[in-house]
Amino acid sequence: MAEGLLAGKRGVVFGVANEKSIAWGCAQACAAQGASLAFNYLGETLERRVRKLVDEFLPGAPVFDCNVQKDDEIASFFASVKKEWDTIDFVIHSVAYADREDLKDQYITTPRANFALALDISAYSLVALAREAAPMMPNGGSIVAMTYYGAEKVVPRYNVMGVAKAALECSARYLANDLGPKGIRVNCISAGPIRTLSASAIAGMRGMLTVAEKVTPMRRNVTQTDVGQTTVYLLSDFSTAVTGEVIHVDSGYHVMGLFGFEGPAE
Ligand code: NAD
Repeated sequence: MAEGLLAGKRGVVFGVANEKSIAWGCAQACAAQGASLAFNYLGETLERRVRKLVDEFLPGAPVFDCNVQKDDEIASFFASVKKEWDTIDFVIHSVAYADREDLKDQYITTPRANFALALDISAYSLVALAREAAPMMPNGGSIVAMTYYGAEKVVPRYNVMGVAKAALECSARYLANDLGPKGIRVNCISAGPIRTLSASAIAGMRGMLTVAEKVTPMRRNVTQTDVGQTTVYLLSDFSTAVTGEVIHVDSGYHVMGLFGFEGPAE
């Protein structure tokens, strides 16, 4: 019998691409707390890598193909999960995409099609996954999605992804209201910058990490483990009345203003 804050809970994890993925940090933290996990992967190119990671660290955990742009793939993903388990307790949404070209200059140049693509994969997918997952949560559950501060304030070059994250956070609030009566909670974690595959698409990521390390109250960047542990809290019975929330796991970056001002008081 597994022990830990998530002992006896079963959940699905969307968004593992490799061992640096935030989703993988979440999966490791959840598994360490006794959760059973199932995973998606995006297409054949990622399948081998995701299966290898899962087989190595969580042997026997189910892994299924699922492109979150496709309703039929989402439906068949949950149908496959249902063959393993009658019910689930949680969903981790750690999925985003925007064209690299739109993450380097100004927001104003974003083409209509690229805007729609970024919003579809990074925000609408939460709605689509929640809709399929909810019937598998008859005893209530918890859904957690990953967001970033660029949803709240202008972060140069984050551009269309900031707009997508604003839609994601707002969707989480509307979903919290739709699903609250069923005992299903929906929350976001706003993570500080972390070096991952997706993050490498943002021009100037290295600069973001350097600035964050210097000016956050904790004077350090965050890790996949920091995010994973807060995810455990949101999936656990220690957060049973927390929903529609955005929790910042960013070493306190979001509370700061007038960065770098440490001049004399006069
Ligand atoms: P990552 O590249 O490891 O993960 C992104 C995942 O999205 C990948 O597994 C990819 O396969 C998946 N994905 C993209 N399009 C998809 C589709 N159509 N269908 C299914 N899956 C798809 O990068 P990450 O940094 O771990 O990103 C995870 C989440 O964390 C994202 O929502 C990201 O915006 C968010 N986030 C990242 C940071 C950071 O600095 N890395 C900070 C805050 C929030």
